Amino acid sequence: MRLSRSLVPTLKETPAEAQIASHRLMLRAGLVRQTASGIYAWLPAGWRVLQNIAQIVREEQDASGAQEMLMPTIQSAELWRASGRYDAYGPEMLRLKDRHERELLYGPTNEEMITEIVRSSVKSYRELPQNLYHIQWKFRDEVRPRFGVMRGREFLMKDAYSFDLDYAGAVVSYRKMMLAYMRTFQRLGLKAIPMAADSGPIGGDLSHEFIILAPTGESQVFYDAAFEGIDYTGGQFSFDSEADLQRFHEMMTGSYAATDEKHDTAAWAKVAEKREGRGIEVGHIFYFGTKYSEPMGLTVAGPDGKPVVPHMGSYGIGVSRLVGAIIEASHDEAGIIWPDSVAPWQAVIVNLKPGDAACDSICEDLYAKFAGKALYDDRADRAGAKFADADLMGHPWQIVVGPRGAAAGNVELKRRATGERQELAVDAALARIL
Ligand code: ATP
Ligand code: MG
Repeated sequence: MRLSRSLVPTLKETPAEAQIASHRLMLRAGLVRQTASGIYAWLPAGWRVLQNIAQIVREEQDASGAQEMLMPTIQSAELWRASGRYDAYGPEMLRLKDRHERELLYGPTNEEMITEIVRSSVKSYRELPQNLYHIQWKFRDEVRPRFGVMRGREFLMKDAYSFDLDYAGAVVSYRKMMLAYMRTFQRLGLKAIPMAADSGPIGGDLSHEFIILAPTGESQVFYDAAFEGIDYTGGQFSFDSEADLQRFHEMMTGSYAATDEKHDTAAWAKVAEKREGRGIEVGHIFYFGTKYSEPMGLTVAGPDGKPVVPHMGSYGIGVSRLVGAIIEASHDEAGIIWPDSVAPWQAVIVNLKPGDAACDSICEDLYAKFAGKALYDDRADRAGAKFADADLMGHPWQIVVGPRGAAAGNVELKRRATGERQELAVDAALARIL
């Protein structure tokens, strides 16, 4: 994209309504604009980040064996009456009526809908297990929408739902999702800690919240150093090996991790290598047995022909919340520092003197070679303003093209994360990045 022709409305001043760094930076870097309380439009740069995150989430869901589909945002009240949640859900649910006075709602989650879909299409135990997911907008009329996209009313979620014949199968599905989550967060450049969460009346160790570490996070986190330095993507754990999945699950549940809400000081005292930090919840997975399948009449024919009620689990990731969470984990005074995997563009090409033949020619050449993966700052602005915007927008690499270097065929390459600069020949700079 050429910046001179793009809608990337960066702001110099700090917007008054933003209380936390990610919210401020998302507004200042021109990623989003609020259109109503807790509802945001994703501008071109923000939309690219959101899609990059969704794509990593998708690849890891697919690798775990889950299948992508798409359910609608609008649901019928009937579905939710069948599970008993229509009245129970309360004022967080946005309720609507169509022209025939039929009651509808904007989905805050999809357990009922997926249970009904599976009920009407899966008949035999041979068709299980199934794990289905979608990446879809949700609406929850939060009492206090705040912190920008971190607690919005309309937000993008990846939600997956597993169906197994029995408890043992559900445990395997749960472990696969847990591994997919740790791989996903690692690829997003985040340190994630799985924390035992309330599993309600069912009990057991099959409910976890995923907290990512960020200095400005909402809750204090206490965890065992054992969680650090594990490589989840390196082939140590396979989705296809139940032994690997069990070993992985034991590793995740065997070490201490808690937020200030559930901190157990006696257990903490026994941890040899203690770590503390601040954290943000970005995902939640849980097994809930037959909580929805039972009341909604989902059964399949078992091996002996008798009906069996499948065991379910559900698995959420806050895709749009992750945009804010990544910024909380990775920014400085000057702006965002995007991890390479989610950056809207890998590099910005900063033309210090548009109109200078050598500068223009190097920039155009580079821009073409990046094939859409670079942003070209071809604006006629002052150099200082361009540098400030490049730092603010957080591109992993800045390629600065000025008349002096350009005459000798050189550019200056800056790595945003470290501030390290280097003068290089054009091709060498390109080779460093691509
Ligand atoms: P919270 O305790 O933050 O309200 P929740 O328990 O309601 O979260 P889930 O129903 O488990 O959340 O949803 C799965 C994920 O969706 C959460 O882990 C979070 O990342 C994201 N999420 C939930 N509510 C919001 C929201 N209002 N805005 C943005 N993301 C959200
Ligand atoms: Mg909530």
